[in-house]
Amino acid sequence: MIESVRVVGARGRVGHAMAGRLAERGLLADGGAAELVLLCVPDRAIAEVAGGIEPGPWVAHVSGATPLAALAPHVRRFGVHPLQTFTARRGPEQLDGAFAAVTAESSEARAVGRWLAEALGLHPFDLDDARRALYHAGAAIASNYLVTLRRAGGSLLEAAGAPPEGLDPLMRRTVDNDFELTGPIDRGDWETVDRHLAVIRAERPELEEAYRALMRLTARQAGTVPTRGPSSPGLRTCRTVADVRDALAPLRTGTVALVPTMGALHEGHLALLRAAREAADTVVMSLFVNPSQFGDDADLASYPRDEGRDLAVAAEAGVDVVFAPSVEEMYPPGFQTWVDVTALGAVLEGVHRPGHFRGVATVCLKLFSIVRPDLAFFGQKDAQQVEVLRRMIRDLALELELRVVPTVRDPDGLALSSRNAALSREQRERALALPRALATGDPELARAALDESGLDVDYVEVALFDPPVLAGAVRVGSTRLIDNVPLEEAP
Ligand code: AMP
Repeated sequence: MIESVRVVGARGRVGHAMAGRLAERGLLADGGAAELVLLCVPDRAIAEVAGGIEPGPWVAHVSGATPLAALAPHVRRFGVHPLQTFTARRGPEQLDGAFAAVTAESSEARAVGRWLAEALGLHPFDLDDARRALYHAGAAIASNYLVTLRRAGGSLLEAAGAPPEGLDPLMRRTVDNDFELTGPIDRGDWETVDRHLAVIRAERPELEEAYRALMRLTARQAGTVPTRGPSSPGLRTCRTVADVRDALAPLRTGTVALVPTMGALHEGHLALLRAAREAADTVVMSLFVNPSQFGDDADLASYPRDEGRDLAVAAEAGVDVVFAPSVEEMYPPGFQTWVDVTALGAVLEGVHRPGHFRGVATVCLKLFSIVRPDLAFFGQKDAQQVEVLRRMIRDLALELELRVVPTVRDPDGLALSSRNAALSREQRERALALPRALATGDPELARAALDESGLDVDYVEVALFDPPVLAGAVRVGSTRLIDNVPLEEAP
């Protein structure tokens, strides 16, 4: 096809191997005109060198990252990127068995590119010039980052007083074994992984973020779940503001989601956690029964609490960090700064629970400030809370996005709530009047149905939120229940 190839940059690592192979095959031009000029120069020099070549012959580069446009003004052009790493200490044999990405803009150029790759001893495959960054990122992981991993592993061995070079035969064997996964993550042995994390944090803290990222990725690929309870490596429980900031510092390269809760987790909370897990790299759940949003002490004292179970549920849901502060941590002595969303916080629930939304807004603002999430997840179940927080975020220009998750209900229609646990069977039966009344989507009908049910009704009203809802609150014995239906969805 082509009988003479001139290599520019034959003293470089790639050029040396390629020129050697072309010479073996009698294809290397010895001075004079060549039919193909192969640029084996550093990426940043390609455009300049190409610009200096008289148009006429084929011009090709061997770069993985550089688009073909860099070869302008030449139109008879292509790229052959050997998917291989080279050293100047070795020769053409480095090409043997390697794959090569051929990028070309015409079938003729592709044919020449494939021919050259085969002449060099490479296995050619076609690569779209527009997808080269993706391809090159994959190659960087497999090659360059392997070097980083070797150094990171070596530094831990060194810290342990073991010889870092001991890793080399291990790495080679892993490759020779076709990358078969073994070890603690494959076995689901999270205690061992947890111990790794503890010593890395103590001895080589700069490696913790990388270790965690690799652990998660490996677990996902292995189909094992790094979430086995409070001590699992997937979950870190923080009690103080400083702790949570410390835990999040290395995770800020990705998106952070916050799911505020008061615990006693149920499927409603899980829906929020799942949505957060899907949307963000790091999921933070706060677990704090906020005294300032409770009107009376008896209600606060009787609020259900089971931290052990909540931590296990959070871990199973893939939460990365739980922030479970004490009341003193959130409201230190002398605390006197409050946020009040005045008008929105005073209607509906605000009438019956004065100060409730002041407590909610204040604790949420403080949580936002501590966690600095990109996303915060709330339930449609508490529609007014969503409206109040949305207004606070807007009014104070907070830099986060509020996301709302639809209300999760039991099969009988009752909206899940931590307070449902306090209902007797008979009370629960009667409480079903609330979702049934709201499902009419009509405030008059709903009011009539609730009056008939004999429940104590605090209100049942259309609220012009986004979206508008028919909202209601009732008391069943000493338990107060709230619910709402978005009006577009009502039958
Ligand atoms: P709480 O622990 O009651 O403060 O609730 C924490 C978050 O879970 C709030 O954003 C609630 O709106 C949300 N949530 C509570 N119950 C449900 C439910 N049944 N469906 C969807 N979200 C809910």
